[in-house]
Amino acid sequence: MGRLSEGRPQALDSWRVTTDDADVAARVASFLGGEPQPNEGGGGGLAYEVLTSRESVRILLDGHAAVASRMVLRGSKGIIHECDGVEFLSPEERQGQPCGCPPLLEDRKLAARDGRGPMPSVDITFQIAAAPELGLFHFMTASWQMAAQLSDLTDALERVNGPAVCDLTTELVVYTTKAGRGVCYRKPVVTVLGSPGTVAPEPPLVPGPRSAPAPSAPRRKATSAPESTTPSTPESRHSVSVDAVLLRRAAQVLGTGDHQETVVAALSEVVAGRQQTTELTRLRVQVGRIAAIAEQALHGGDSSLT
Ligand SMILES: [Zn+2]
Repeated sequence: MGRLSEGRPQALDSWRVTTDDADVAARVASFLGGEPQPNEGGGGGLAYEVLTSRESVRILLDGHAAVASRMVLRGSKGIIHECDGVEFLSPEERQGQPCGCPPLLEDRKLAARDGRGPMPSVDITFQIAAAPELGLFHFMTASWQMAAQLSDLTDALERVNGPAVCDLTTELVVYTTKAGRGVCYRKPVVTVLGSPGTVAPEPPLVPGPRSAPAPSAPRRKATSAPESTTPSTPESRHSVSVDAVLLRRAAQVLGTGDHQETVVAALSEVVAGRQQTTELTRLRVQVGRIAAIAEQALHGGDSSLT
């Protein structure tokens, strides 16, 4: 989700992939966009990096074992505290003993920020769904948002019972603080879609008003993903795509206060600039029905409806 640019951390709008294998780098670029280039952005000393054009990549997770998570506090001489949030994982002689981390996420964040407590360390092992032959990739993150969705994610993976097709998305979060400052960052989200038999290895390309490749809409979290037993087409869940630039611009132009507001604003702009989509037609029908009911109620003198 980021890289180093002249020694400074740089957040990215789309996924960056690093690898030591020139052939893999070339194939990743052909699947996900971008160009393989010498890795100057840091990360594991791997030889190549590809700055893809994808905010969302469809991946395969092989059960809940594909998700490894722990909490780690590092000091100058190595790991000071390694736990699962409740019990120590290391050193060996303290394994299984209560570690003393606070139960609430907010308190854990505060402790980590002050250098007193551990940070999440999440490692998700996956294959690219459209090209599993490229082998295993790792997504490693210290994101608290990712740590917070892990139990939902592993539950969803267990429900699929076997390899699961998921979307790994770097989702834009835009909001305004109480002090009125606009904040915008990206968080990683894994959405479990179902088993390989019921979900396409590539999301359908949504023709958008802007240039290809089609950006993907913000996804819902693992908990709200439909059950894997229901064969479904991904496009039925989000028929309108929004790009990150549009979202950010919408937030600036409209002065929208929260993420949802911005999404609604951005969606309206996209829809207005396009031919009618089925979604818009459906919404119109619904609004028409509501209007008809309201009108009837008013003509009927039903004073309970105001
Ligand atoms: Zn702990």
